[in-house]
Amino acid sequence: MLNNIRYRNMNPYRNLVAGVDTRIPLDNGSYTTAINFDNAATTPPFLSVIKDVDSFIPWYSSIHRGKGYKSVVSTNLYEEGRQIIKDFVKADSDNDTVVYTKNATESINILAYILSQQKNGKDVVLSTWMEHAANDLPWRDKFTVDYIETDEFGRLSMDDLESKLKKYKNRVRLVTVTGASNVTGYINDVYAIASLAHRHGAEIHVDGAQLVPHLPVDMKPFGTVSHIDYLSFSAHKMYAPYGSGSLIGPKSSFENGLPYCQGGSAIALVTHNKIWWEEPPHKDEASTPNLLGIIALISTIKTLTSLGMDNIFRHEKSLLYYAYEKMKTVPGITFYSHPEIQETIGVIPFNMEGVHHSLMSAILSYEAGIAVRNGFFCAHPYCERLLGYSAQDMEDMMRDPKSIFPGIVRASFGIYNEFSEIDRFIAFLNQVALNKKYYVDKYSNSRGRYNIKNEV
Ligand code: PMP
Repeated sequence: MLNNIRYRNMNPYRNLVAGVDTRIPLDNGSYTTAINFDNAATTPPFLSVIKDVDSFIPWYSSIHRGKGYKSVVSTNLYEEGRQIIKDFVKADSDNDTVVYTKNATESINILAYILSQQKNGKDVVLSTWMEHAANDLPWRDKFTVDYIETDEFGRLSMDDLESKLKKYKNRVRLVTVTGASNVTGYINDVYAIASLAHRHGAEIHVDGAQLVPHLPVDMKPFGTVSHIDYLSFSAHKMYAPYGSGSLIGPKSSFENGLPYCQGGSAIALVTHNKIWWEEPPHKDEASTPNLLGIIALISTIKTLTSLGMDNIFRHEKSLLYYAYEKMKTVPGITFYSHPEIQETIGVIPFNMEGVHHSLMSAILSYEAGIAVRNGFFCAHPYCERLLGYSAQDMEDMMRDPKSIFPGIVRASFGIYNEFSEIDRFIAFLNQVALNKKYYVDKYSNSRGRYNIKNEV
């Protein structure tokens, strides 16, 4: 108990992150310290990342073919980064390759393009009902896509995965699944999914955008049944918002076919008759790379590793449970996830009865200085299902110009968030619950600043 109290009063991670003390204006003209509960969207940088990027800037130079001293330094850091990333997620040093990308979205688009050229008679990709658009749309125009079901609590159905693998027999090229949902926060058992996929002759891709920043990831040894074949993630969700990400997978998968993006750096030799592509991973890194982004990614991996991903997960879980238990006492709150029945990252999707999701976000921001997110979080079919709307309902809404779109409010935590910030959040939610009419009228009628119509 004592330990708990002491721990709650001093978050050891707070001082590692930029901007935690930023003062922002409220609607009444006063100022408050901003609270950021929108970490599932993006995270502020670590101070160590800013420092590493800044101290590298005098060394910034062209990579690979430059002979200048700074070019050699830049090239070495760029290339050495791949092993640091492999170590972080326990990828295979010899067989895997790390492609530097802009973000998880680009990683998945690259992967979809590459695998679409290597179907080997397998024309089906199994995605799921809980995916972000980034792990759904890139597959649609290249494969027959089917979606693994979620149950009444929004959890992925392993039974449905198995029955779809059986239904399509040996036609499934890939099972592509999020490691953790950006809506419910549910963590999927990617190793059980990998085992099932492999037993049915399919590979697995894990969208790690919400997994890699929050808990230890282990791609498991090559050739084992629970091995993760492909992994994607973004640095901006892991305290390094400098526009970089990664796609990891077997080197052999990247050797043949055309790259998604074609141009300089991806080529060994070109004539007007023929292109000799570079070896992977360079083949999929056309153009001059975002070296500062890579420096930031390597830096954040070093910081996260020194903090310990297990500790980070534990801390974020304690924030989650603290907030969740307190939110249960606020009148009129509906939750769309159930952390008591499924392992969950620090994400709480909710609504307050009688307050539109968009208004709730605006009220929290302008009245209390608390940033959350609302809408469908780019996981539209999942949110539609969680809210009980069918695809037809959504089509009808799109057709009706008077529609006010439904949605969800999402609070998501980062390592630097404090229990006292959650206290402020809960106190304010209670205030809104008790004075609902006042807040709703204030923000939906008089100002007209908030277009709540199409915000998904
Ligand atoms: N997958 C998931 C689960 C996500 O939460 C996100 C970002 N919200 C993405 C993919 C896409 O990431 P990015 O925007 O960095 O490409």
